[in-house]
Amino acid sequence: MNTSDRSTTGASVAVRRPQFWQVAKRCCQIAGTVDVAFFFLFHVLGSPLLAWVNVISVSMYILAYQALARRRNRLAIALIWTEVIVHATLGTLLIGWDSGFHYYLLMFIPALFLSMPLRGALVALVSLWAFYVTLDVVMWTVEPLQPISRDALLAVHLFNLSVVFAMFSYLSFFYLKIVSSAQRKLRLMAATDPLTGLFNRRHMLDLADKELARFQRSRHPIGLLLLDIDHFKSINDSHGHEVGDKVLVEVANVIKAQLRSQDLIARWGGEEFLAILPDTGLEQARASAERVRQALMQQRWSFDGQSVAVTISVGVSEFQVDDGLKSAINRADRALYHCKDNGRNQVEVCPGSEEAVPAALPVNGLWDER
Ligand code: GH3
Ligand code: MG
Ligand code: MG
Repeated sequence: MNTSDRSTTGASVAVRRPQFWQVAKRCCQIAGTVDVAFFFLFHVLGSPLLAWVNVISVSMYILAYQALARRRNRLAIALIWTEVIVHATLGTLLIGWDSGFHYYLLMFIPALFLSMPLRGALVALVSLWAFYVTLDVVMWTVEPLQPISRDALLAVHLFNLSVVFAMFSYLSFFYLKIVSSAQRKLRLMAATDPLTGLFNRRHMLDLADKELARFQRSRHPIGLLLLDIDHFKSINDSHGHEVGDKVLVEVANVIKAQLRSQDLIARWGGEEFLAILPDTGLEQARASAERVRQALMQQRWSFDGQSVAVTISVGVSEFQVDDGLKSAINRADRALYHCKDNGRNQVEVCPGSEEAVPAALPVNGLWDER
C-alpha cells in the first residue's frame, strides 16, 4: 500500500464512488417510508413507545437525505448509523430478539466496505460484530422490556425480515450494476483509441487473428486497407497539434461513415488507420478505399477559421490462403508506399502474391508499438 492509499479519506472514497451516495439517498427514502409504516404498525400492536421512536427515525432520515444532497456525507452516515443502531437495539430490547430488528444491523456490512477506506471498514466491521453478539447474548439472559403478543411478534418479525430481504436485494442489484458498468468501461478503454474512438492497435490484432482464422476456414475474401493521412506532419507544423488532433478525429469519422458497419477499423499508428473488410474481394476493397479518399476530398476542412488541406493515401490488399496477418498487412503497406512515391492522394492495390513482398519488409518496424 503506498502513501496515497494510506491517506485515503472518507471524502476521497466518496468522490471515487459517487453512485454509493446516490443509493444511500434512495435507502434514506425507503427506510423513512418503512418507519412511517412502523409508526402505524406499533400503534395498532399496542406499543406506543416504539411507535413514537419512528417519528424521530423519520426526522433523522430526512436530515440524512438533506445532508447527502448537500454532499455532507459524513454527517449523513453518522445520522444513518445512529438511527439504525438505536432503533434496532431499542426494538430488540423492548420486544425481544425474535422481533428481527437486529437484522437491520447486518445491512451495514456491504455498506461499510462501499463507504469507507478498507482499514476503517474493517475496524467498523469488528465493532459491529462485537455489538451484534453482545446484543444477542444479552437477549438470551434478559426478558423483553415491553413484550407484545405472540401473533404481533410474528407479524413484526415477518415485516422486518421482508424489509431486510428487499433492501439487501436492492443493494445487491445496485452493486451488480456498478460492477458491470465498470467492467464495460474497462473493456472499452482497453480496446479503443481515446482520441478517435476507433479500435486500438492491440485490439485490432486480436480481431484480425480471428478474421484470418475465419478466412482460412471459409475462404470468403477479406480485404485490408492501410490508410495514411498525407503530409500530416506539416498540418501539425502549420496549424498546431490541436488542429492535427481534430483532423485525426474527423478523418476517423469519414472512414467510419464510408465503410460498412461490419468492417473493422483501427487507429494503427499516429496518422495511420487499418481497416479489415470481411466478405470483400480486392476490387471491392479498392472501391471502398476510393470512396473514403473521395469523401475526404469533398469535405471542407476548416478548423477555428483555418482551412486545412487533407488528403489520404490508401494501400489495399486481401488475405491469401496460408497467409499470415503480417504479410497481408505488409502487402498493403507496400502498396501504400507506392502511393506516397507516386505523389500521394491515391489508392493502390497490391496484387497479393507472396513473391511481390520483399523478404526485408516484415522487419520494418510495423509490428512494434508506436
Ligand atoms: P506522409 O505523407 O509521407 O505520410 O507524411 P506525414 O507527414 O503524414 O508522415 P510523418 O510520418 O512524417 O508524420 C506523421 C506525423 O504525425 C508526425 C507526428 O507528430 C504526427 N502525429 C502522430 N500522432 C499524432 C497525434 O495523436 N496527434 C497529432 N496532432 N499528431 C500526431
Ligand atoms: Mg502520413
Ligand atoms: Mg504514417
